[in-house]
Amino acid sequence: MSDKNQTVSQPPIKIGHYLLAETLGIGSFGKVKTARHQLTGHKVAVKILNRQKIKNLDVVGKIRREIQNLKLFRHPHIIKLYQVISTPTDIFMIMEYVSGGELFDYIVKHGKLKESEARRFFQQIISGVDYCHRHMVVHRDLKPENLLLDQNLCVKIADFGLSNMMMDGEFLRTSCGSPNYAAPEVISGKLYAGPEVDIWSCGVILYALLCGTLPFDDEHVPTLFRKIKSGIFPIPEYLNKSVVSLLVHTLQVDPMKRATMDDIKNHEWFKKELPAYLFPSPTDNDASIIDMDAVSEVCEKFGVTDKEVHSALLSGDPHDQLGIAYHLIVDNKRIEDETAKLDIKDFYVASSPPPSNFVDTPARPQSATGNHGQRQRMLSGGNTPVERQRMLSGGNSLDKTKGTPMKRAKWHLGIRSQSKPHDIMNEVYRAMKALDFEWKIVNAFHVRTRRKNPITGKYVKMTLQLYQVDYKSYLLDFKSLACNEDEPNELCASAGSGSNGSDPYNQSQCHHIMEFFEMCASLITQLAR
Ligand code: ATP
Repeated sequence: MSDKNQTVSQPPIKIGHYLLAETLGIGSFGKVKTARHQLTGHKVAVKILNRQKIKNLDVVGKIRREIQNLKLFRHPHIIKLYQVISTPTDIFMIMEYVSGGELFDYIVKHGKLKESEARRFFQQIISGVDYCHRHMVVHRDLKPENLLLDQNLCVKIADFGLSNMMMDGEFLRTSCGSPNYAAPEVISGKLYAGPEVDIWSCGVILYALLCGTLPFDDEHVPTLFRKIKSGIFPIPEYLNKSVVSLLVHTLQVDPMKRATMDDIKNHEWFKKELPAYLFPSPTDNDASIIDMDAVSEVCEKFGVTDKEVHSALLSGDPHDQLGIAYHLIVDNKRIEDETAKLDIKDFYVASSPPPSNFVDTPARPQSATGNHGQRQRMLSGGNTPVERQRMLSGGNSLDKTKGTPMKRAKWHLGIRSQSKPHDIMNEVYRAMKALDFEWKIVNAFHVRTRRKNPITGKYVKMTLQLYQVDYKSYLLDFKSLACNEDEPNELCASAGSGSNGSDPYNQSQCHHIMEFFEMCASLITQLAR
């Protein structure tokens, strides 16, 4: 059903107390729509996860607890999750709505940012990521597309916890994701991915903010992976030494040598003009005193007994969801108390479900920088038009030190899956069989396949290669092989990158590329069934 049809002929769909409205976009996890509270008019964003795509998603067990905890997250730079509603067909995540678009588009529009503006964004990002890490949630998919901006140009991190949820469920998605922000150990297939993978992504984001380009990029996936694994990236002359040392430390290939959160927080470049609210002083609460109100709240939210919460706290297991919930509740109470005491409004945006009189009132300017005027200057100041132009077209320039331009992480055609690699390959064989493709196995994760064009009698050929792109997630890459029987190994196009060293205007090659895309499309369609 299209959105247009929906608005013309049918009453809006109601999810809880919210009426669904226009579609904001379609991400790899599902559609995101706006919705309004039927009484208050409060606007929210609703992420719709189709259950058909989430096989065996255990929403009654561990994941339900994780979602419950995500609802307790309160941070001024993290998109607030208000509510999760499950229906037999979909899961609706009702979230805070922000109107400033994605940081990605902001960078593309403005090119490399002024150092002070880049620092301001980076400080907010690190504050949010640090908060989540302290509550045992790793993002695993940090990129400027997941960093939204509010109307005051403050960062709001989206999708925290989503990859964890999806990893626990078996989630198959046809995706166009890019591994540009993934850490080397992730693309190398190491199974454990902790906070250090987010630190790496933050390093890539900091580079993008400062340079308007990506530190590691290539249209050819294996070359991109090689670049990431080498950890070598261009350092433009205009970067000051202090920030270069921070970049080099966050983009260390060896996770053991990589900067930790504390290293970043103590770095001189990071600490400059750091607003105090981003890292409130640690609580001086005595951990041995248990807050009984918080325990009762956990019992109520999770439907468990006092005893279960106590044993979770005594177990000392930092990953126990009941323990995490308890600490979140204690933290939230402290923030509320401090806010009330000091009349600090910085955490206003992070408050739990909005008050009922919240009828689309424009959000008050936050004191993220403590200086709204300064923010205005940053917006209108920025780089010269010439610089902007150069940054946007930089990747095509011959000067390799300028790096490649920022590209939306949407260029890769392939199938992304979180099933086990052998299961994915079995699905691929089944699909190829159903489509009458012929194939030759190069190795367990690399297949050459061909299909005969019944009209020309010629074969269209491609290779399928499975890569690991992030924690437990795999990418099936499609590459075209030359149609000429005499040159069976020559590469003439790649689904991910378009033409690859060959003349794109050559008619027969264009025709071959079209046939290749058709072949990809039929395989994707078959796999999605
Ligand atoms: P991916 O799922 O691969 O990260 P994505 O970021 O484009 O891709 P979503 O996060 O699903 O996909 O978002 C789809 C669109 O909805 C994007 O344009 C995003 O900016 C917008 N969007 C998502 N969440 C919100 C929100 N809370 N407020 C406003 N816009 C949002």
